Parts: sequence; C-alpha cells; structure tokens
Amino acid sequence: MISVLPELVIVLADLAAAFLLLFGLKRMSSPVTAPSGIAYAGIGMAVAVIASFLYALSVAPEAKPHLLMNAGLAVAALVVGGGLAWRSGNKAPLTAMPQMVALLNGAGGGAAAAIAAMVLLGGITAPAALVVTLAGALIGSISLSGSVIAWGKLDGLIKRPMRFPGQQVANGFAFILTLLSGGYIAFIVLSGTAPILAMPTLIAVFFGLALIFGVLMTLPIGGADMPVVISVYNAFTGLAVGLEGYSLQNPALMIAGMVVGAAGLMLTLLMAKAMNRSVSNILFTNFGATKTHKKGKIEGELKPTGAGDAAIFMRYAKEVIIVPGYGLAAARGQQKLYEFVKLLQAAGVVVKFAIHPVAGRMPGQMDVLLAEAGVPYDLIFQLEDINPEFETADVALVIGANDVVNPAARTDKSSPIWGMPILDTDKAKQVYVIKRGEGKGYAGIVNALFYKDNCNMVYGDAQVVLTQMIEAVRGLTKTAA
Ligand code: NDP
Repeated sequence: MISVLPELVIVLADLAAAFLLLFGLKRMSSPVTAPSGIAYAGIGMAVAVIASFLYALSVAPEAKPHLLMNAGLAVAALVVGGGLAWRSGNKAPLTAMPQMVALLNGAGGGAAAAIAAMVLLGGITAPAALVVTLAGALIGSISLSGSVIAWGKLDGLIKRPMRFPGQQVANGFAFILTLLSGGYIAFIVLSGTAPILAMPTLIAVFFGLALIFGVLMTLPIGGADMPVVISVYNAFTGLAVGLEGYSLQNPALMIAGMVVGAAGLMLTLLMAKAMNRSVSNILFTNFGATKTHKKGKIEGELKPTGAGDAAIFMRYAKEVIIVPGYGLAAARGQQKLYEFVKLLQAAGVVVKFAIHPVAGRMPGQMDVLLAEAGVPYDLIFQLEDINPEFETADVALVIGANDVVNPAARTDKSSPIWGMPILDTDKAKQVYVIKRGEGKGYAGIVNALFYKDNCNMVYGDAQVVLTQMIEAVRGLTKTAA
C-alpha cells in the first residue's frame, strides 16, 4: 500500500494536469474565454511540474543518493527558465510575439529531445519504446534548431533566405544521413552487435545531424513565411513531446503532446488555406522574397487626402467598417483607434471591425490587438460574416492592411494571392486607407484597391493619423458647441 500510494498520487496529478491543459486549450478557442484558458493551462503546467517532483517518492534505491542533487538541478532550471520567460513575456511587444513563440516552441522541442537523449543513454532496449524515443529525438531536435533559425529571421538577425543550387538535394542527403544514424543506433541496441563508435558518441552524432537538418531545412525559407513554419514546428514539438511521453509512460506528456501536435497541424492547414497556398509550397518555394511586382495593368491614380477630412466624412457616415492589418500592430495604434471609434459611436455612427484570418503576422493577432484596446467582442466580425455588409457600408477604413484587401485575389490569376479570400472593402461606397507610403504588404504586390475611384489614401504612421483624426472630430464637436 505504502509503495503504491506515491504512484497513484503521481498518476492522478498527471491526469489532472492533462485535463487542465485540455480544458485551457478549449477555452482558448474564443477571445472571450482565452485569458482564463491561458490561466487554466498555466495551472495545469504547475501541477505537471509538481507531479514530476513527486517521482522522487518512488525512485529505485540505487538512485536515492542522487536525489538531492537532481532536485537541486531541477529547481535551478525552473528558476532560470521561469525567470527568463517571465522577463521576456513582460517585455516583448505584441509585434514581437511571433519570434517569442518561435523561441518557446524551440525550447519545447529541445526539452523533448533532451528527454530522449537521457532515455537513450539510460540503455533502453524494448524495441517499440526505442523506435518511439528515436523518432521523438529526431523530431524534437529538428524543431529546436529550426525554431531558433525562425526566431533569428523574425527578429531580423538573419536578413535573407540562404539558398544555393542543389539545396533540396543536399537537404535530402542530410535527412537520409540522419535517418541512417538513428537506424544504426536501433540496429546496435536490438541486435547486440558491437558499435563502431562508443554509444554516447553515436547518440551525439545522431542528435548533431538532426539539429543540422533543422537548420538546413529552415534557412532557405523566406522570413515572411516564418509564422507558418513556426506553426509546422509547433506540430513537430507536440508530436515529439507525445512520443517521449510514451517512452516515459507519462500520460500528461502523451495527451498534451498529441493535442499540441494536432492543434499545430490544424493551424498550419488553416493558415495555408487562408493564404490559398499548400504547405509544401510554403516550405519549399520562394514566396515572400520576390517583391518585384510592379503596378502593371492597374488603372487609376493614388488619391491622397488629409486625416481631418477623412475623419469628418466618417463622423457623418451611417456605417463604418474598420479593417485592421499588420501596420496597426506595427504602429501600436490600437488604443487611439478605439478612442476614435468611441467618438464615432457617440455621434451615432455604427462601427464594426472586420478581421481577416491571416491579417497581421500571426493567427489571431488582430483579435488580441483589439482586445488589448478594450474593443467589445460584439463589434468584431470574421471575414465570412462581414463580407456581405461592405456593399451597404458608407466607409471601409483600412488601417495598415494591404494584402487582405487586395482585389487582385479575385481578379488576377497571375497574382501570388490569386484565390485567397479577401475582405471586400472595394465594394464600400468610400474607402480610406491609412498607411505610411507606397510600401507593399507581405506578398510584395501592388494593391489595385488603392487606385480605385472610391478610394483615398491617408498617408502617415497609423497611430499619428488616428491621433489627428481624433483631434479633427473633437474639434468639430467643440465648434458645434
Ligand atoms: P500586409 O503585410 O499586407 O500590409 C501591411 C501594410 O501596413 C503595409 O503595406 C505597410 O505599408 C503598412 N504599414 C506598416 N507599418 C505601418 C505603420 N506604422 N503605420 C501604418 N501603416 C503601416 O498586412 P495585412 O495584415 O494586410 O496582411 C497580412 C499578410 O501577411 C498576408 O499576406 C498574409 O498572408 C501574411 N501572413 C500572415 C500570417 C498570419 O498568421 N497572420 C502568417 C504569415 C503570413 P507602408 O509601408 O506604406 O506603411
């Protein structure tokens, strides 16, 4: 009974952690419940950490002398890792979230690989567990080094995609070599044959090759495709953690890993669908790097207007639909935007927000941005729900968005964004676009919307322009008073 009790407590704690993680994940599916979802998942994580310390109660007698030392190392790792994550989480601006997610995801893959290394060095012999551990080691290592490269690209440390002739073949060769080294380890362990190198050296070679492959696989991909790449690596990390959970027979790791893996996979597919591209096109072709598209056959002229004129026009409109994009996040203009919206609402204007699934640089970025500013959720509409309303809206106000409102997706088969669902802002009676100049969007193409007769450009940083708009509407109210 005494020896069974710790095991039971550990299993129950693991299951409680898994349940809390799943429950948290479920709540993250809506912006309304997401903050509490994150809190539940965090509590689940804390329970899982406590449960891993409970293993001390049931270690083998020969491991007991190392207990204090190991517990000390685990606490030190928790303090250092937790401290760094706390500091960077508080410091990082919202626009830096993609790179932060890349780093944290890499840490997850690395942790799975580290578990695998310990299991392999511990002399695992059961065939199924050995294969699963090796697979987790491979996937976790690729996710670690690939995520670090993705972070470097998103953070601007790696400026250009690194490409050379025959790269795909070289990458394929590196992958086969990695598989062969893992296969050789399995063969040595299962057949009992004497290895050509000491086992720790063989394991180090296998991990080294897997890490190199992760780097090689990620270097040629354009920086702009990194959010999708991170999502792919997120799926990898989840899978690696799940496999190592099997190898350790830990239900919390198995469940959480598989759920994270499946969520990462679904997110990757959804992002690819919203961009109308296949995942293999994103991973193996050179999309975001070619930014040479010219105005081409687009007719019309750009028609700049002042922030004040645009604001006053909206003040007297019946309905205004606002489309936020990457530029709003870059300008950190969300608070000013909501201030402006409240002034319009006070004047009786119906204001709605239209969100494109891939607006910004990571899924849900616009929802988070608007939530941060306190915009009520019932003002926020997703693409398929709001699109029919543009035809009757007086004004579509596009703020720092470009590709997600480019009608070329509907009309130009040669366009890189052909087929991508877009927000139909061009159908509104009047369109205002706030952006700094003639900068292109992520896809690097000219936007026909900006040249349409019903469209005016309001040039400037989104936060600055919105401040001017607020002043214009306030000035009007004061004059009227
Ligand atoms: P875009 O990248 O198409 O356009 C952003 C625009 O914002 C630019 O044209 C830029 O023009 C303007 N801008 C930049 N900084 C400022 C600023 N400080 N003030 C005002 N304007 C500014 O953004 P969208 O959101 O429309 O589209 C997102 C794109 O990213 C899509 O192509 C999507 O496929 C892609 N993508 C999205 C992912 C996601 O998960 N959300 C993931 C991967 C890719 P200017 O320089 O003239 O100011």
